[in-house]
Amino acid sequence: MEWIRDDRPRRIKLISTGGTIASRWQGTGYAADASGDDVLATAALPDDIEVEVVDLFNVNSSRMTTARQLALLSAVHEALADPDVAGVVITHGTDTLEESAFFLDLHHTDPRPVVLTGAQRPLGTGDGDGPGNMYDALQVAASVRGLGVLVVFDGVVHAARGTVKAQTLAAAAFADPSEQSLGKVGFARVDVRRRPDRPAPLALPRAATAEGPGTLPRVDIVTHHSDGDPLLLNAAVAAGAQGIVLVGTGAGNATPEIAEAVAEAVSQGVLVALTTRVHSGPVAEMYTGGGAVDLVAAGAVLTGTLRAGQARMALVATLLSDVAPGRRDALLRDLLNGPTRAEPALAAGGSGSRFSGAHASPAARQHAALR
Ligand code: ASP
Repeated sequence: MEWIRDDRPRRIKLISTGGTIASRWQGTGYAADASGDDVLATAALPDDIEVEVVDLFNVNSSRMTTARQLALLSAVHEALADPDVAGVVITHGTDTLEESAFFLDLHHTDPRPVVLTGAQRPLGTGDGDGPGNMYDALQVAASVRGLGVLVVFDGVVHAARGTVKAQTLAAAAFADPSEQSLGKVGFARVDVRRRPDRPAPLALPRAATAEGPGTLPRVDIVTHHSDGDPLLLNAAVAAGAQGIVLVGTGAGNATPEIAEAVAEAVSQGVLVALTTRVHSGPVAEMYTGGGAVDLVAAGAVLTGTLRAGQARMALVATLLSDVAPGRRDALLRDLLNGPTRAEPALAAGGSGSRFSGAHASPAARQHAALR
C-alpha cells in the first residue's frame, strides 16, 4: 500500500448539511441543529490544514430531497471553482449519505476529492464518533487525488459507488457488501489500495445552475415480497413517476403480473431499474416466470451490485441530464454498471503493492488523465 501524502498546507471547504454529527437533544429526541463551526470545533485539525465552513442546510438526512442534493452539487462545484481549495468535506446524516455521495460522484469531474462523513452518535456525547470521523475526512480530503467522491467513516475509506449504510447504530456504519473498501485512514496515514471504477462523469445538470431546480422528476422505489402484486408499481406510474426502481427478490425476481406492469410502464416512457432486496451480490437474468429474464425483456435495466437508494440516484441523474429521451436507457445502463473492467479491480494488498492506474478501467484511466 502506498501512503499518499502531500506536506503543503491545504485549504479544505467544509460543507455542513446536518445529520447526527450536528444533532442535539430536543427534549423528545435528537435533531440536527448545530452549525458547521460548532461541529468543526469538536474535532482536532490535522496539521497544516485550514478549514472554511459553508452552512448549506441543517436537516436529518431522512429529509433529503433532490432539490437539496442539487444545492449540494452546486455548492461543491462552487467550492472547487477556487483553485486554492485542495478538497471538500461534507458532513451529512448517515441515513441517506450513500444517495447524496453517489449523486455527487456521478457528476464529479475534478481530481480533487469530495469526502462525505458523519456520525452515529450525536454531538457532544463523550464517546462520540463525530470528532474522529471529521479528523479522518479532513486528512483524506487533503491527501488523495483522482478517486472521485469518497465516504470516510470509522477509519475506512469507501468509494461512493456501491457503499451503503450497513449498520443502524454501530460506529462502522458503512460498507460495500459486494466489494472491498478502497483503503483506510488513521495514525496520520491514508492508505489506498485501489482506484474505484467510475463511468464518465455527467455534466452539471441545468437544475443545479442559477436557473434553479424547476420541476424535478419523481422516481419511486417499489419492493417485491410474497403476495406482492403490481398495485404499487402501477400507482407510481399513475402518480407521474418518470423512473421506478423495482427491488426484486433473490437475483432480481418478481411475478409475471409485475413483468407485464413493467412492460406497460416502459411503453409509457418510464425508466425501470431492477435491483434486489438481498444484501450483497449482483442481480442476474436467471429465471423466467416473472424473474429477471422476463423483467429485462419487459424493459427493466439491471443495476449490477447497486442497491435501491443509489439505483434511484442513477435514475434521477439520467432524468436530470439533457440526453435525448431515446438515449436515456443507454445512459442509465452506464451509470448503473460503471465501466467494463478489463482486469479485477482489486490490486493485491500488503506492503510493496503500489497505488496506480494499472488495474483501472478505461474510464477510470481517462478520469485519472484529467488530473
Ligand atoms: N438520522 C440521522 C440522519 O441521517 C442519522 C445520522 O446522521 O447518523 O440525519
